[in-house]
Amino acid sequence: MKPTLNWQIASVAGIKPETASVKTFTLKLPAWMRHRAGQHYDIRLTAEDGYQTQRSYSIASEPEREAEVDITVERIDDGEVSSYLHDVVIVGDRVEARGPIGGYFVWEASMTDPLLLIAGGSGVVPLMSMLRHRAAARANNPTAVLYSSRSFEDVIYYDELDRLRKANGGPQVFHTLTRSQPADWKGYTRRIDESMLKEVASPLGRSVQVFICGPTLMVESAANALVKIGIDSNQIRTERFGPTGG
Ligand SMILES: Cc1cc2nc3c(=O)[nH]c(=O)nc-3n(C[C@H](O)[C@H](O)[C@H](O)COP(=O)(O)OP(=O)(O)OC[C@H]3O[C@@H](n4cnc5c(N)ncnc54)[C@H](O)[C@@H]3O)c2cc1C
Repeated sequence: MKPTLNWQIASVAGIKPETASVKTFTLKLPAWMRHRAGQHYDIRLTAEDGYQTQRSYSIASEPEREAEVDITVERIDDGEVSSYLHDVVIVGDRVEARGPIGGYFVWEASMTDPLLLIAGGSGVVPLMSMLRHRAAARANNPTAVLYSSRSFEDVIYYDELDRLRKANGGPQVFHTLTRSQPADWKGYTRRIDESMLKEVASPLGRSVQVFICGPTLMVESAANALVKIGIDSNQIRTERFGPTGG
């Protein structure tokens, strides 16, 4: 049995806007532990009257980075925790954090099979940790990313994904923009479907390991479509970003 993780007081060392509704928070952790790409932290907030609430946030940064982690949070209108993080928290503030948590939705550079990462919206966050880890570890397993966003302005980490794509041995990166597209857009323009997955997954062969993260419906339809095109469900790991309560 692993020891129970304790809450620790993280300090916010940086805040970076990613899109109009998404920010990355760098958390300095006094009891930092190396994570596995794909794991998350729980963040707990306590009000002056003692009311507490907590939510899960995937780690965006690579395990190679010590003493701190990045989390990337989408502001949900009326969302208790995400709007507090966006609207109230400033650099130097402290929040309670507990992690790293999770042992199933993880990828390590020692896994040498071809890799397919499928994201919807902020579901790209744990997959970015995997890509950053892959780059830091100089892994060269064939890798593709399929990332669905509403519009170009909503794409998180666009520039970094592009840099990774252009690097030697970098992943292939496919974007789909489901609601609006720039005039010169060359990527996909529809929700992830079977024919799109066939195009993206086929070159990776039958041993491909798949990680899917995003809204529940998107995750389920992508996983079902992959099974239909012949990928064994044992090779597909999913994570849903639903409400976590607390
Ligand atoms: C393992 C795990 C990892 C996660 N990682 C991330 C991450 O990296 N980045 C990130 O931004 N979020 C992530 N989430 C989602 C996050 O935990 C919260 O659910 C989210 O931030 C909303 O919390 P809130 O307190 O702002 O909203 P709440 O006060 O809980 O909810 C307000 C309203 O928004 C709805 N709602 C709640 N969550 C969502 C959502 N995700 N999308 C749309 N509507 C929602 C609720 O049903 C409710 O109507 C993760 C969830 C899990 C389970």
